[in-house]
Amino acid sequence: MELWFTEKQTPYLEFSCKVAATLHREKTPYQDLAVIDTFAYGRMLVLDGIVQTTVKDEFIYHEMITHVALNTHPAPREVLIIGGGDGGTLREVVKHPRVERATMVEIDERVIAASREYLPELSVAFDHPKANVVIDDGIKYVAGCRNQYDVIIIDSTDPVGPAQGLFRADFYRNTFEALKEDGLFVAQTESPLFDGELVRRIFSDVRSIFPVARLYITVIPTYPGGLWTFTMGSKRYDPCGIAFEDIPSYETRFYTPAVHRAAFVLPRFVEELLEAR
Ligand code: SAM
Repeated sequence: MELWFTEKQTPYLEFSCKVAATLHREKTPYQDLAVIDTFAYGRMLVLDGIVQTTVKDEFIYHEMITHVALNTHPAPREVLIIGGGDGGTLREVVKHPRVERATMVEIDERVIAASREYLPELSVAFDHPKANVVIDDGIKYVAGCRNQYDVIIIDSTDPVGPAQGLFRADFYRNTFEALKEDGLFVAQTESPLFDGELVRRIFSDVRSIFPVARLYITVIPTYPGGLWTFTMGSKRYDPCGIAFEDIPSYETRFYTPAVHRAAFVLPRFVEELLEAR
């Protein structure tokens, strides 16, 4: 018998993978959590029926949400990750030689437990000496911080359920307050093809709060449409104006200085989206 997992990406579009095995399934207090093994992408974390990450393509997302931001800041010593329960972003953050402490605030401890058990490639850094894992609502946590972080990374689920508030202007204002005077933040901000209005609204909110607002793109094969956006708000440093000869060297599979630069070259339809009022 053939078993297939299907994510309904939009009411008119589905993404399917042939399943080798269902490794884990539970209802947590926050979401339906599954880890499946697929023939095409290997092990896959699925929350509420939506693909979060797969062992085959995760490095693209995790390196691009992490290293563009960390290398934009000359001294990213104190880093905060909101969400990120699979551990992939934390793994990338602790890899950076200038990071001294990486605090990860995840609302659902069951995601961390499942990743520890089934996704060892991603969850390797939970016990790293630089890591500080907190189980809490990231919205509440950020509202309680002032002038504390150099870089904040919002590695959240889609804007439904507990993640909804992570895409709102008042959260970006609290993020501004939680950052030091030269701090910056980055968030995964969905598909420019299927969530254009959301991408436009987030960019407009971030631009109204931060002196520097930039959007960049990459390709994530398992996300709707493949093309994906990240939005950065910065108090001082511009990700398009960094001196690459000053960044530290460490191992990556996707991120390079050339990929960093290229990510900010936007297709015309994305530029037009950001200019629309
Ligand atoms: N790379 C993924 C994507 O774009 O689909 C996100 C991966 S990570 C698994 C997202 C995490 O955000 C989930 O584990 C979820 O529990 C967490 N999350 C959602 N809302 C949150 C909140 N308000 N505070 C902290 N974590 C939250």
